[in-house]
Amino acid sequence: MAAPPYDHFKKLLVLGDSGVGKTSLLLRFSDIPIGTDLSVKTIEMDNEWVKLQICDTNSQERLFKKITRACYEAADGILLVYDVTNESSFLHVRDWIRKNIHSSSNNVKKVLVGNKADMDDESKRAVSRARGQTLADVCDIMFLETSAKTNKNVEDVFFALASCT
Ligand code: GDP
Ligand code: MG
Repeated sequence: MAAPPYDHFKKLLVLGDSGVGKTSLLLRFSDIPIGTDLSVKTIEMDNEWVKLQICDTNSQERLFKKITRACYEAADGILLVYDVTNESSFLHVRDWIRKNIHSSSNNVKKVLVGNKADMDDESKRAVSRARGQTLADVCDIMFLETSAKTNKNVEDVFFALASCT
């Protein structure tokens, strides 16, 4: 049998409130949407090819819980996305992390992602960079602010998760 055209295979899951930019981040990063909720991209890291299968989630969908659970149980890495202009999206992701972080079954690598960082003026921003960083520090996970609009830090988020062991 032929060897697969990659050295590692990782399954990632994108979580966060509706409207925070999950699908936009995925569209920025991946080249092949293979369904409404699934994309793949193969990247080169340290002279090895890592194939990423990324599961988007859509809270409008009736099957949401089922899909998310299936993806969640299989996930190697999770992007926890909030919108820096939307306080409640941050509080929801914060609650999610705090609820899950102490569960022993849950040693999946996570990155906290503050998206829409291009909307940086005082009148629009609702969650400071410092608040995002503090939450990530408390929970001992990585933190990045991104913009799916300008492409800021988008690759970095996925590369960070691709390097999880
Ligand atoms: P989802 O529901 O989490 O998948 O969010 P979407 O990807 O559908 O994005 C929701 C809205 O936010 C859309 O109108 C996007 O164009 C917009 N959006 C997404 N990411 C960004 C970003 O980084 N900056 C700005 N300014 N708008 C964004
Ligand atoms: Mg979406």
